[in-house]
Amino acid sequence: VQFSNLMRKLPNIIITGTPGTGKSAHSERLVELMPKMTYVSINRYIKDYSLEDGFDEERQSTMVDEDKLIDLITPDLEEGGRIIDWHVCDIFPESLIDLVVVLRTSTTRLFDRLKDRNYPQKKFIDNMDSEIMEIILNDARESYDPDIVIELYSNDNDDLESNSQRIEGWAKQWIIDNDEGKE
Ligand code: ADP
Ligand code: MN
Repeated sequence: VQFSNLMRKLPNIIITGTPGTGKSAHSERLVELMPKMTYVSINRYIKDYSLEDGFDEERQSTMVDEDKLIDLITPDLEEGGRIIDWHVCDIFPESLIDLVVVLRTSTTRLFDRLKDRNYPQKKFIDNMDSEIMEIILNDARESYDPDIVIELYSNDNDDLESNSQRIEGWAKQWIIDNDEGKE
């Protein structure tokens, strides 16, 4: 674990949260602030590598071959410097993840954002429930050291900017600490 940590020059950061909380908006801002980091939208990745594994009618969502996804993405994570954007956070190898950001959005704002997406009603309700019940926050805390899990509010543009700057500051500190660890 320690060895693989030291091999990475840049941290791996997961940006997670219920659909609509702002994962993609944050990830895009983060790569602007940190051009050496690479943005990996897992939704995009699933399409690019044909990782779809059927359709879940109940959840109205595409199922994913998660084993294949992990096999494919592990070398990228070993290299470091990845910003991972996905609502599922708990399948990545713990030793390769340095920070897990869980974005949270107020019920009223999330309602408006999800309405704009025209999801089927069941999917809309499931996502609202998931946010209210803090499902992804709990998944993150159960799967990673709670010390690397941070919960950030993503309600307005000021939040988006201050969160992004805070994450950038955290990444810079990780780089400094990691460098010292090598000496
Ligand atoms: P996700 O990737 O988590 O599904 P998006 O980043 O696509 O969410 O955001 C959903 C919508 O909400 C987009 O229109 C985005 O611009 C908007 N949005 C997200 N976060 C914020 C925020 N903090 N302030 C204002 N608008 C936001
Ligand atoms: Mn997105």
